[in-house]
Amino acid sequence: MLANLQFDNRFVEGLPGDPEHRNYVRNVANSCYSIVEPRTVSNPTLVAYSEPLAEVLGFSPSDCDSSEFTQIFAGNKKVSGMAPFAMCYGGHQFGNWAGQLGDGRAITLGEIVGVDGQHYSLQLKGAGLTPYSRTADGLAVLRSSLREFVCSEAMHHLGVPTTRALSLVLTGDSVIRDILYDGHPAPELGAIVCRIAPTFVRFGNFEIFAAQRNFEVMRQLIDHTIKFDFPNLEMDGVPESYIRWFDCIVNRTAFLMAEWTRVGFVHGVMNTDNMSITGLTIDYGPYGWLEGFDPNWTPNTTDAGTRRYRFGQQPAIAQWNLLQLANAIAPVLGEVKPLEEALNRYTGLFDKYYMEGMARKLGVRELTPRDSDLLREMNNVLTCTETDMTLFFRYLADVDIESAAKGSETLSSIRNAFYSPTEVVGETANRIENWLCEYSKRVRSESSDPKWRIDRMNQANPLYVPRNYLAQLAIDASDKGDYSFLREWMDVLKNPYTYQAGKDRFLEKRPEWARTRVGCSMLSCSS
Ligand code: AMP
Ligand code: MG
Repeated sequence: MLANLQFDNRFVEGLPGDPEHRNYVRNVANSCYSIVEPRTVSNPTLVAYSEPLAEVLGFSPSDCDSSEFTQIFAGNKKVSGMAPFAMCYGGHQFGNWAGQLGDGRAITLGEIVGVDGQHYSLQLKGAGLTPYSRTADGLAVLRSSLREFVCSEAMHHLGVPTTRALSLVLTGDSVIRDILYDGHPAPELGAIVCRIAPTFVRFGNFEIFAAQRNFEVMRQLIDHTIKFDFPNLEMDGVPESYIRWFDCIVNRTAFLMAEWTRVGFVHGVMNTDNMSITGLTIDYGPYGWLEGFDPNWTPNTTDAGTRRYRFGQQPAIAQWNLLQLANAIAPVLGEVKPLEEALNRYTGLFDKYYMEGMARKLGVRELTPRDSDLLREMNNVLTCTETDMTLFFRYLADVDIESAAKGSETLSSIRNAFYSPTEVVGETANRIENWLCEYSKRVRSESSDPKWRIDRMNQANPLYVPRNYLAQLAIDASDKGDYSFLREWMDVLKNPYTYQAGKDRFLEKRPEWARTRVGCSMLSCSS
């Protein structure tokens, strides 16, 4: 199967590429990509692969266990039909235009068609220098690669739009990193993840051509993107179709932000070069999962100053990023007003998706503006004592609605979600109980079937998320060559909404040691 992979490289075949084929760091003009070759690694070994994704791509377990698989997805073996390239893009980083960025260490091997008929790009991350590597080395280390590998697949199983990850290999080469950027560089294990997505195009792919004032190539890229990634949009005349396209991006981005809010995900680096044009979660770097619910939290120590990309600000940042995209493409549309109108719809769309998500999380049919007090007080309750977001919502399904609505003691069913359960007494306990009482009355007002409510909640409130400290445990074991924890965890994460007997260690809230340990709740961009 692997030797006979059928490539259909639409991106390189359909769009203008860089005529320079020598691989050295430079500015690239008027090109969507540059041709590059992955670097040869010394001794690749397979750490893990995603069985469900391999199946979609038509790879059998024996394909994946073969040494050929490891060689291909380490970048050592080229298969006929591959046309490896690195994309050119720019981006706004932390609010400022940063100029050309591009795939500095990501190399797309080619595009294949999955058994589902969908096109997929196969992209190696950490496969060596490209023209876009700037001052960096083009490589990636095990800890960040493992985090990307696990979280991409976990997100998929959670039902959140995301790029995916097929494989995680160790290269056999070491890579020097200064984890906290504090003058302590040290060798780490080099690794490569093979990421998979219908497209890896980002907002920044369009922005770069605005910066170059090359609206002809931008138009080609827009047409290509609409044709292949938005096939349902009717192309009955420019600029209307372009406006519908932008509308669709606004819609998908709003949905993605509501989904991150639903599951408690903090991306960490929402620069416009890390925003997928098709509304996927992309570029897992210093991301994190909410432990104690806190809208101000970000795991990214590189963003500690202003916490621009904190949990509660992600929806607003996404809108700001959409504005940058609108600015970039406006000259091709020739009109600004319809773009402004689309941008103005963002907040309403986000609110709609947020309310739909919360209605599922709370087990009610729908939420309306009349429920805003209930939601506001819910956020207060979640922050009045450190409360594990994941467990709180999961346990909420167990609350006895009849007795809670009468104001009886109900904290017992959710007590384990608190990080300091014994401190939840007096005022704090009263406040939470009062909210539970209001919530229960609200549930009762719908006279829904209790089983319907519990099922609805359990399908929206995951029990297993890729908790930060679990990733660190998987990294610690994998660093020593033991992949059993990682593989068992990946297996559990395939069914995040279903209780799995014997797997309780994958749902426990953050232990105290992990609160301040680097790599758990504190990460930098070093990867
Ligand atoms: P990020 O915000 O981490 O997604 O990366 C921003 C830019 O830096 C992108 O153009 C990346 O390709 C590039 N980059 C990050 N790490 C490396 C690396 N180790 N080598 C080369 N380029 C990198
Ligand atoms: Mg990036």
